[in-house]
Amino acid sequence: MSDFAMYHALGQDSNNPNGQQQQNAPDPYRPHVVASPGGYQQAGSPAVGQAPYQYGTPNPNASMPPTPNYFPPQQSLPTSPNVDQLTSQMGAVGLGVEQAIPHKPKKKDRHAYHDIGTPVGTSQPFNGFPASGTPNQFLNQNTPPVGGAQWQSPQITPAMSQFPAATPLFSPAMPASPMQHAARTGPVPFGSPAPAQAPKLDPEQTPSVPKSRDAPARYYLDNVYPTMEYHLPPPALTPFVAFDQGNSSPKFARLTLNSIPTSADALAATHLPLGLILQPLAPLQEGEVPIPVLDFGDSGPPRCRRCRAYINPFMTFKSGGNKFVCNMCTFPNDVSPEYFAPTDPSGVRVDRLQRPELSMGTVDFMVPKEYWGKEPVGLRWLFLIDVSAEAVNRQFLDGFCEGIMHALYGPEGDAADENTQKRIPKGAKVGIATFDKDLHFYNLSAGLESAQMLVVPDLEDPFVPLSDGLFVDPQESKPIITSLLAQLPTMFSNIKNPEPALLPTLNAALMALSATGGKIVCSLAALPTWGPGRLFLRDDGSMHSADAEKKLLATEHPGFKKVGQKLVESGCGIDFFLAAPSGGYLDIATIGHVAAVTGGEVFYYPNFHSPRDTLKLSKEITHTVSRETGYQALMKVRCSNGLQVSAYHGNFFHHTFGADLEFGVIDADKAIGVLFSYDGKLDPKLDAHFQAALLYTTAGGERRVRCCNLVASVNEGAAQTMKFVDQDAVVNIIAREAAARMAEKSLKDIRAALTEKTIDILAGYRKAFSGNNPPGQLVLPETLKEFTMFILGLIKSRAFKGGKEPTDRRVHDMRMIKSMGPLELSLYLYPRIIAIHNLDEKDGFPNEKGHLKMPSTIRATFGKMEEGGAYIVDNGQICLLWLHANVSPNLLEDLFGPGQTSLKKLDAFTSSLPVLETHLNAQVRNILQCIESNRGSKALTIQLARQGLDGADYEFARLLYEDRNNEAQSYGDWLVHVHKQIQLELSGQRKKEETDGLASAGSTFVGLRTPYWG
Ligand SMILES: [Zn+2]
Repeated sequence: MSDFAMYHALGQDSNNPNGQQQQNAPDPYRPHVVASPGGYQQAGSPAVGQAPYQYGTPNPNASMPPTPNYFPPQQSLPTSPNVDQLTSQMGAVGLGVEQAIPHKPKKKDRHAYHDIGTPVGTSQPFNGFPASGTPNQFLNQNTPPVGGAQWQSPQITPAMSQFPAATPLFSPAMPASPMQHAARTGPVPFGSPAPAQAPKLDPEQTPSVPKSRDAPARYYLDNVYPTMEYHLPPPALTPFVAFDQGNSSPKFARLTLNSIPTSADALAATHLPLGLILQPLAPLQEGEVPIPVLDFGDSGPPRCRRCRAYINPFMTFKSGGNKFVCNMCTFPNDVSPEYFAPTDPSGVRVDRLQRPELSMGTVDFMVPKEYWGKEPVGLRWLFLIDVSAEAVNRQFLDGFCEGIMHALYGPEGDAADENTQKRIPKGAKVGIATFDKDLHFYNLSAGLESAQMLVVPDLEDPFVPLSDGLFVDPQESKPIITSLLAQLPTMFSNIKNPEPALLPTLNAALMALSATGGKIVCSLAALPTWGPGRLFLRDDGSMHSADAEKKLLATEHPGFKKVGQKLVESGCGIDFFLAAPSGGYLDIATIGHVAAVTGGEVFYYPNFHSPRDTLKLSKEITHTVSRETGYQALMKVRCSNGLQVSAYHGNFFHHTFGADLEFGVIDADKAIGVLFSYDGKLDPKLDAHFQAALLYTTAGGERRVRCCNLVASVNEGAAQTMKFVDQDAVVNIIAREAAARMAEKSLKDIRAALTEKTIDILAGYRKAFSGNNPPGQLVLPETLKEFTMFILGLIKSRAFKGGKEPTDRRVHDMRMIKSMGPLELSLYLYPRIIAIHNLDEKDGFPNEKGHLKMPSTIRATFGKMEEGGAYIVDNGQICLLWLHANVSPNLLEDLFGPGQTSLKKLDAFTSSLPVLETHLNAQVRNILQCIESNRGSKALTIQLARQGLDGADYEFARLLYEDRNNEAQSYGDWLVHVHKQIQLELSGQRKKEETDGLASAGSTFVGLRTPYWG
């Protein structure tokens, strides 16, 4: 979660009237909201011609002293329903293996021929679990703004939603009733009903990603997500408060299919992967209950004797409470005397409500010694700082040192200690080393007057020249650390050794941490060409044959591979901060391998420019240090009899298949993909269960297991499956699978395979599940409406796009995709774009409930950009502020300050907005803070993209994924292409290899298909 504390300073520095109020905000994690400075009323929505007038009037209130109470106190998000009540309901219905799914009569799928934008929804009770007062499942992906009356009443009972009354066909002119919303689960056809000869699609009719995000986002402002009652998680980018009812929150775990077919054959008909995306340390949102930490003493948490699954809400108790039946393998275990509690007449343990492990889907267990690899201690942070010439010259060294300072002590350096407590937990320690062609460690002991430098003389055989004083408590040694960090840039500006020696530095760091494990944060500003394990300019930009490129995307360097493996074995992981000199080559394939295999991350600044990028660098170091981090971690995923794990995708170390996954480190932003296959047939009368157990040491030094439990219903024939597909999870699995193939297959083959996969899934749906639609219609499953757009985004991403792209960038993005959680990936595949030149006056301010009113987002196409417009374009990696060449001078002044009246006058290296007393400025800063709180691991700073002036203008064009760009089709053409292929498939004429002009993928293509690829 981003750290908002640092923004408070912005308001204070500028006499922001809300500074005081912000400081008093009860929760530092809630983004504070900048108040409007006065009564400046922005005119209504100006499009083209109106903008100059809107901004032509001087703001009469600009200098008025703002009223201190202007800003209404914020209210909390909707509070969770009463835990006891819900758990007792759960107990009463006896969740678990013996509960059969009510069998449903076969019912013909209902179709509606209507405008794509018509709202639809459905509700499906889970194993007869009673619906409570909360509104029913929100399944619609494409709806007009919701939150009105139709979402509040009347109540929809399970029976109603299971056996919906016959509903008339929707008409766009006739708003649907809640009943219709709830009942309709049919597919969404569009396009001309007549056999189409390459029909031109109306772009407005294509499924809209922005709409699919905005409507649920509004809905979940006022509603929680109860994890048992609802079976389809909100879209990944939607902020929501989950209420854990025994099933893990989608923030931690998302299944691709929430209703699973009984057999491999039935699954094959859908062409969908059966997989699970796990983000076990994902951040919680305000309003969510913290994960309980449970201590069972020396005996450890109760586990199944046969399959070793941990106790969870889906295990059932028998024989008066003397036995518990495992939900994975159905083995009846004895309950130990210490854990015994009797059951009530319905078979539920009487203490169920007091036991989080029996009522919550995600819990942490403290574990006894037998689970330790090493004595757990507070996390050791080792900062490795590149002090070679390039780092000094580019002021990357300054930025990195400043960033560490902020990360450890807050932006004010000497700010109150509670900030520090939050960033580095008690017990964690910090060490510092610097390197160029030499390697230096520092004694940071609190007793010293200043830090002592100790040089490692022999890079061939590096050793750690000290033990005491290498890792210190950052509070006790604060004066030593801060003065060292302040001096380093000057100290090395006189030396400027040109070539850094990286591998010996990593080997020495490994030695320093081998006893305890820990986390390394390493900066690097040039290709490490010195000493043992030096790297070479492998990619000079001239090799672009597929084979040459493939080699450049992987590493065969034995030294880097070895140090990666050794780091994991020692419980260490590494994050790199890489700045390429003038966009030059760094061999990220080799260096980043060490981060990937240890569970770390690479922060990459392809063309680091100090004035523009230092803020981002600093915020990202702070984020690295302050996000939840565990180390020395192992993961095991278990599933019900009949299923088995078939593959893992992510950044970790895996000895042999079947062994646990190993992570040197794992943090809040990292996600893992797991694929399952059948080793039998599932019983449709039972549910399918999944449990992921992450054994890790917390940054505070506690050895724990984080358990995430998931349940899915089982159905015959897979028709039900199509109604509970989690689109984000499917896209995430497919993206990981594609990224994993990058070292083996050419990019062209991978793009072709992605296209094929899309066609397979949609044609499979058309064949088996969509009922009778006119052949000329493209019919998309309701749950996969935006799927084609996301896959197009993937094909256009830096990792996979056609045309030239530096291999450093490709491999960096490829590894990122392998570790991104669903939220970050969703943004990466389709940016959110917000127009800021025609904001409603209430946008960017809290409504009467204290929720920030966010403007609607718009489609990623140039066709939506208005003359004179200004737009925020955020893909989770960079955030552009795109300004049309004819943007109003008044808008610029309102946003950037007096005198900033033309694009040319703006500072090209702006990275944040000034704090001004204008309505627009406050609105935009609030909007930016809001989207920053809903992002992945990268910091949000703005980068100017002035039309026709900045290089970032090209990046803007690249991100308009609905347009024809990145050597791929526009969204409309892509849909037409996919549609045509589906028609060919249905008529038995499809040639699988022939894809998008990417023919000749040839016979190797088949090799790309893992069991699930088809
Ligand atoms: Zn078991």
